Amino acid sequence: MSTTSTVLASTLTPRLLGKVALVTGGASGIGESIVRLFHTQGAKVCIADVQDNLGKQLCESLGGEANVVFLHCDVTIEDDVSRAVDFTVEKFGTLDIIVNNAGISGSPCPDIRDTKLSEFDKVIDINLKGVFHGMKHAARIMIPQKKGSIVSLSSVASALGGIGIHSYTASKHAVVGLTKSVAAELGNHGIRVNCVSPYAVATGLALAHLPEDERTDDALASFRDFTGRMANLQGVELTAHDVANAVLFLASDEARYISGDNLMVDGGFTSVTHSLHVFR
Ligand code: NAD
Repeated sequence: MSTTSTVLASTLTPRLLGKVALVTGGASGIGESIVRLFHTQGAKVCIADVQDNLGKQLCESLGGEANVVFLHCDVTIEDDVSRAVDFTVEKFGTLDIIVNNAGISGSPCPDIRDTKLSEFDKVIDINLKGVFHGMKHAARIMIPQKKGSIVSLSSVASALGGIGIHSYTASKHAVVGLTKSVAAELGNHGIRVNCVSPYAVATGLALAHLPEDERTDDALASFRDFTGRMANLQGVELTAHDVANAVLFLASDEARYISGDNLMVDGGFTSVTHSLHVFR
C-alpha cells in the first residue's frame, strides 16, 4: 500500500470501530454530541442519564438498540452507575471507554456566607462523586481486560477561580486531582485516565441558573455574545462538537500514550491573562 492510500485508509476507518462506550449525561448538551460522534465513529454506546425521554429519543434517532442503548442512571447513586456499567457489558459484551460527562453548574450564589451546604453538596455529588462512581465501576471491568480509556469532563474552572460558583470550581479542580490519582493506579493495568476542560458552550447548563421561562433564544444569544467577547480566541465559537472531538481523541487509540492529562479546550483562555491584556 502506498503512503497516500495508508493515510486515506486510516482517515476513512471509523476511529472507534469495535469499541464499546458508556456516556453519563449523554441525553443532551455536550454528552449528546459525544454520543453522536462516538456512534458515527463506529462505537456501540450506552447513554446513562436522568432525562429518560431525551435519552430514549436520542437512541431512536441513532437507529435504536443495535448500536445505542439508554439506561436511567443518576450518577450520584453508586448502584445506578454500577448497573449502567453492567448493562453496557451485558448489551455489547465489554466496556472500552467511559465518559464521565454528567454535571451541573449549581445555583448561583456569589457570597460564601449565603452558600448552603446542601447546595454545595448537590454540585459535589454530581460533578465529583458521580465521576468517582464512574471511574470505580469502569475499573472493575477494565482491570481484568488490561485496557480501557476513562475520560471525564472538567472545565476551565479547573484552572481558574471566578468562572463558576465555589462548589463548581472546587468540583472541577477535584476532577483533575482524581484523574491524576486514578491514572497513577490504573496505569499499572494499561488503562488511561484523562479529563477535558472546555471553555463556555451554549448548552442547557449555561442557562441553568435562569428560571425555565427565561431560558429563551435571546438569553442564549446574550450568553454567546458575552462568552465570545471574553474568549481569548476570536472569530471562532466553541461548540459541543469541538468538545466531543477532544473527548474522541482521548478515548481513541490515537491517544494511546496519553494519561493523567487535563486537555484544555479553551482557545488559550486559561493560558493568558485577562486583566493586563496588552494586545487588545
Ligand atoms: P447540560 O446541562 O447541557 O447536560 C448535562 C447532562 O447531564 C444532561 O443530559 C443531564 O440530564 C445530565 N445529568 C445531570 N445530572 C445528572 C445525574 N445526577 N445523573 C445523570 N445525568 C445527569 O450540560 P453540558 O454543558 O452538556 O455539560 C456537560 C459537562 O461539561 C458537565 O460536566 C459540565 O460541567 C462540563 N462543562 C460544560 C461547559 C459549558 O459551558 N457548557 C463548560 C465546561 C465544562
